[in-house]
Amino acid sequence: MTDKTAGQTAAPVPSDHIMGVYARAPLAFERGEGSRLYTADGEAYLDCMAGIAVTALGHGHPKLVQAVKDQAEKLWHTSNVFRIPNQEKLAELLTRHTFADVCFFTNSGAEAIECAIKTARKHHWANGQPERIDIIGFDGSFHGRTIAAIFAANNPSYVEGFGPPPPGFIGAKFGDIEGLKALMGPTTAAILLEPVQGEGGARSWTEAQLKEIRQLCDETGVLLIYDEIQCGLGRTGKLFAYEWADGAANPDIMAVAKALGGGFPVGACLATAEAAKGMTPGSHGSTYGGNPLAMAVGLASVEELVKPELLAHVREVAGYFSQQLSGLKDRFPEVVLDIRGKGLLIGVKLATPNREFMQHARDEKLLIAGGGDNCVRLLPPLTLSLEEAREAIAKLERACETARAKAKAAAA
Ligand SMILES: *Cc1c(COP(=O)(O)O)cnc(C)c1O
Repeated sequence: MTDKTAGQTAAPVPSDHIMGVYARAPLAFERGEGSRLYTADGEAYLDCMAGIAVTALGHGHPKLVQAVKDQAEKLWHTSNVFRIPNQEKLAELLTRHTFADVCFFTNSGAEAIECAIKTARKHHWANGQPERIDIIGFDGSFHGRTIAAIFAANNPSYVEGFGPPPPGFIGAKFGDIEGLKALMGPTTAAILLEPVQGEGGARSWTEAQLKEIRQLCDETGVLLIYDEIQCGLGRTGKLFAYEWADGAANPDIMAVAKALGGGFPVGACLATAEAAKGMTPGSHGSTYGGNPLAMAVGLASVEELVKPELLAHVREVAGYFSQQLSGLKDRFPEVVLDIRGKGLLIGVKLATPNREFMQHARDEKLLIAGGGDNCVRLLPPLTLSLEEAREAIAKLERACETARAKAKAAAA
């Protein structure tokens, strides 16, 4: 066999051998430190997307790096047929800080959603109501890319071409409680929602709406599943977004991932003991989920994320962004239409194309994420300093100037 890559260096154009499912920016990074990413040429970018809310503690956090190094030298993987001490510790930590009694660890957000859906259906099955299979989701949601997750979110562009919807997934309108009531019935198993939508463009449910949904669930025996994969783990300034409702809108089941491993693939499905009553030996599993290497990083990560001073810092930086961004909205009404989201999950709805705006930001050496409804999202590391936030605003202001100039030139 000949090695077709022999003698080749890094290709100037993206590889033909990567399945073309991403429209990638023409940019690669070699190294990261805190809120900065560096290209191979040493160019620094301010990272206000954190790998889509994943590197919540910034790049190269010393405690996470140490946790990986130490564990890498000891033990990577055994199997869930054995006890995994750090898995038990992380589950203990997560349940102590949440509504939940039990956790199942996964390698991704989508798998955490799968586990949540299975847990909900199995709960009703164990209760002698196997007909309760329907999962009600909302438009603008994103729950991941497995078949169940795409049909649970029902975003037309993500389900197109992937065959008929499996039974048991019902789409409801975001924010419409009366519409939701009309869709609930004897076959409803669970309501699935993101307290603050991520990919959909940082739309937030109000606390009053979440309380009403919680009440509906209590009255009907329907389970409430939150997808806090993006908005959870400190992103909104509380450890979990549902906490803003002060205990009046707790879920029965919750999917978590992204920041959980700080860049190492770790997800989790959290549930009350009652919700998880059908999940008995043999009913679910994962080869890698919760393995020693993942749990060492997850544990180090959550130990940092639960710190009250970090959450207070998130609220402070978020307050600064909120104030400054509404200033940009006033000064650039031709570019910025709306500011939404919660904490450091910030959506900026634009009048100019969001993909172009992301390029303007990159030209200023600022990385931001896209989002539905022509938004861009700011998802900085939760450790972003106020000084870095000021720098981000200055870069965004210049990006707004560029966008405005471009819009004017196009209109002329
Ligand atoms: C990222 C995300 C997912 C999917 O997570 P993966 O790790 O990509 O499977 C699901 N729900 C929400 C809200 C997300 O932001």
